[in-house]
Amino acid sequence: MAECGILYMVATPIGNLEDMSVRGVRILSEADLIAAEDTRGSIRLLNHFEIHTPMTSYHEYNKTSKAKTLVDAMLAGKNVACITDAGTPGISDPGEVLVRLALDAGIRVVPVPGACAAVNALISSGLATRRFCFEAFLPAEKKERGQVLEELKEETRTIVLYEAPHRLVRTLALLLDTLGDRPLTVCRELTKKHEEIRRTTLGQAVSFYQENEPRGEFVLVIGGRDRREILREKQDEIREGVSLEAHMQQYLERGLDRKEAMKAVAKDRGMTKREVYRLLLDHEEADPAGEKAAAGHSTAGGTAGE
Ligand code: SAM
Repeated sequence: MAECGILYMVATPIGNLEDMSVRGVRILSEADLIAAEDTRGSIRLLNHFEIHTPMTSYHEYNKTSKAKTLVDAMLAGKNVACITDAGTPGISDPGEVLVRLALDAGIRVVPVPGACAAVNALISSGLATRRFCFEAFLPAEKKERGQVLEELKEETRTIVLYEAPHRLVRTLALLLDTLGDRPLTVCRELTKKHEEIRRTTLGQAVSFYQENEPRGEFVLVIGGRDRREILREKQDEIREGVSLEAHMQQYLERGLDRKEAMKAVAKDRGMTKREVYRLLLDHEEADPAGEKAAAGHSTAGGTAGE
């Protein structure tokens, strides 16, 4: 039986042919078959690097049936190189399905790194790169899109999104509506002649692109929510909704001693232990019988020290 072939996931440039890796060219030249998302578009790349490997189409509309044919070819010993429209195959394109089926069949998958629009937008955005999430394109279906936007509301990591030019203004307006005004970097036509990296905000970008028709390819990089702001909001909510005494009581009932309860209450309310202690004393002096506390009356608002 022939030895099983390999699936190479080969990254191609996202605009500038000089970004093609030397290894990528070799793998494409040596493979038995290239599975390309856009065979006509890829001819330019193959001609430029004088690659003569046979090519077959592998795209969104034949991704499952064609993946099976490609898997059979690899099981029969052929090495297949997958390339997509541009950039890293498997990122927001049909490459993902082929990888899954190949792995299921026991075929070795080898990544051949190179350009990726999302990563290059992120690193040139000026926004936090330590933690980020990639949402690709927002779903076309309204309900699903709404759910994703709702999830993004509380996202503290930098958010990276792809968008087509004709949907850009609508998407920016939706993002502004849901997330509020946030820092935004719009990366357009990366690595190409008209490359543009615009540091702005969601609000400013909506106005700008309403007046200037968006053209070319876009990646949106959006600042995540400030964790401290989320914490402050939670603390405000607690302070407004639960009295200090009732809050203490909750922890005492869970078995914490008075000192531990005070510490937990202080943390939840964004206060120091000393402030909690003082306020409890003040309240006890003002209401020794604890009638207000018993009635669940909030002692939060307007008390000095809080
Ligand atoms: N696999 C590709 C990658 O690695 O980036 C992404 C494929 S996805 C179908 C195409 C989208 O990527 C475009 O609509 C655009 O949002 C983004 N994109 C691709 N090339 C780009 C470029 N040169 N500049 C900005 N965005 C680009």
